[in-house]
Amino acid sequence: MRETIPRSYTLARRTPRVTTRAIRCGALFDGTGTPAAPAVVLVRSGRIAAVGPAASTPIPPDAEVVDWSDRFVMPGFVDCHSHISIVPGLGDQVGQLKQGAVPRALRATRALRKDLFAGTTTLRVMAEEDFLDLEVRDAINAGVIPGPRLLCGTRAMTASNGHGRAHTAFDGVDEIRRGVRENFRRGADHVKIFTTGGVSSPGTTLNASVYTREEIRAAVEEAKRAGSYVASHAHGGPGLRMSVEEGVETIEHGGLATDDDVKLMIDRNVWLITTFAIFMHPDGIERGDGKNPAIMEKLRAARAVVDERFPAHLASGLRFAAGTDAVHGAMSFELETLVRFGVSTRDALLAGTRWGAEAIHATDVGTIAVDKRADLIAVEGDPLKDITALRRVRAVMKDGQLQHPQDTGDEHA
Ligand SMILES: [Zn+2]
Repeated sequence: MRETIPRSYTLARRTPRVTTRAIRCGALFDGTGTPAAPAVVLVRSGRIAAVGPAASTPIPPDAEVVDWSDRFVMPGFVDCHSHISIVPGLGDQVGQLKQGAVPRALRATRALRKDLFAGTTTLRVMAEEDFLDLEVRDAINAGVIPGPRLLCGTRAMTASNGHGRAHTAFDGVDEIRRGVRENFRRGADHVKIFTTGGVSSPGTTLNASVYTREEIRAAVEEAKRAGSYVASHAHGGPGLRMSVEEGVETIEHGGLATDDDVKLMIDRNVWLITTFAIFMHPDGIERGDGKNPAIMEKLRAARAVVDERFPAHLASGLRFAAGTDAVHGAMSFELETLVRFGVSTRDALLAGTRWGAEAIHATDVGTIAVDKRADLIAVEGDPLKDITALRRVRAVMKDGQLQHPQDTGDEHA
């Protein structure tokens, strides 16, 4: 029986050698107010103990000083939509999910390192087979491999003939209830459901809705009863509308959302999670499946609609946050695209940090404020003036610990 197999790692965290760190910031964007320059952030036991302008934030004599005085410091990115074992540039994303645990875990190890050192400190996983994401979450938390903090969806709810189906499928209200309950029993943080087709698989159309209203409602009810929520993969059409009407909290992609859909989302306080890189970045679907004419045709159509509609959607008052959809390390691209579509640089930074944390119920990250987890990144340049500075993340701190690319986790071997 699967459930009798113990997880691979003990969850004992490393005992930090230094309890207080003082970070000198050239400029600080804390996600709550006006940027301060210069500023100081004090970190104790992995949490923010104090933050403020350098002149009024004394550094305790016993603190270890981290000198980021030539850097723009901001909260670590919150990637609201990714997959740890998928690398879209390799093509056939569903085929990747169907592979054995070893190749998937090795890809995840490499991908999450890339995400972390590009500045992502929290990442929401939006479908993995075999509860792989829970095992990897444990490995990261135990210090075995470097990676962002993971919020795990485990097995997505998708229909037998639905988009995103690898091995597992759930048909009918009862299977969905059982599937969601089992996911939570195993340690899932939220529920992902596919309510429309997608781009990266041939044979499904973007607007087609496979699930019935009753099936979507069952997922929402079970998630709420467990104190969580549902995220719905929905491009547009009835699957998107039913998702919003039945109470899902985040709409993923929304590539074909109409003005009416957006109005309904605003009315119901639903978040849009934008995922531009998967459609537009050269390392997205195009690199992996560019030779498949059926997929490329859908991709071109989706790009045209996104270019046409998103500037208005993003200016409509709709709440939005950003996800890479497994284009690992591409949070900068996501936020650059928001700016290209008319969003201010300040709001783009919020979409990649504070708003993302709010959208995915990650209540203790997303801003640099007292008692939040000390997840900070040091950027070269000023992304408020030039958003492409986000490509130059030079240092990453997670839970108050500086992250080092060479860290092999040997002490846990
Ligand atoms: Zn996805």
